Amino acid sequence: MEGWLKNVEKTTEEANNFTQSFVQTTAVVATEAIQTRDLPDKRMWKGKDVGHLYPLLEVMSRNGIDFTVTSGYRPGSKTASNKRSWHSLGMAVDIKPAGTETWESLKRKIVSTPEVLNYFKENKLGIYDETTREVLAKTGGSGLHFHIGPDNVAILGLQEIEREYRNDILKKESSDEYPDWFGGVSFATFDTYREIGTGNQQIPFK
Ligand SMILES: [Zn+2]
Repeated sequence: MEGWLKNVEKTTEEANNFTQSFVQTTAVVATEAIQTRDLPDKRMWKGKDVGHLYPLLEVMSRNGIDFTVTSGYRPGSKTASNKRSWHSLGMAVDIKPAGTETWESLKRKIVSTPEVLNYFKENKLGIYDETTREVLAKTGGSGLHFHIGPDNVAILGLQEIEREYRNDILKKESSDEYPDWFGGVSFATFDTYREIGTGNQQIPFK
């Protein structure tokens, strides 16, 4: 082989190696930055490390929603499909009803309490209902729970809950906030759709 051609190949290989290691390094640095930079000081909820979601739980509790956290920050955790779980970044919690609360009352209260629902939406969080055998079989969850996190499936889940309880909400809210000239579809729902349309799993708490 011509000397110059060998050099070109060598240079190309070096460039490829450099690019690959750069991409890997960047991914590692970004991951570590998220994992170490963002976790707030106050994150222990009744003995469980709930990472970034402490303020959400505080808002829910202050609004009379009674729940138990079954899982919070789990460093290194993966999903059933072997992707990095939001739990590993302190961005997800699992809850179940406490006291006189039921799965139904939890859902109804969350979507009919404006401060709570707004917090979910502003921080791009949703709820994945993992209380059926079918869903648990898919996710590999060990017990019934609501998964709260920025997962697309959770964002869709919250919309589903909003639809389910819309009639309850319509009775409570003024007709100004839920105009019926869109066939009863609220602005909030349009906003959420727009977020999903971007396809991004945005990370809140900058
Ligand atoms: Zn979870």
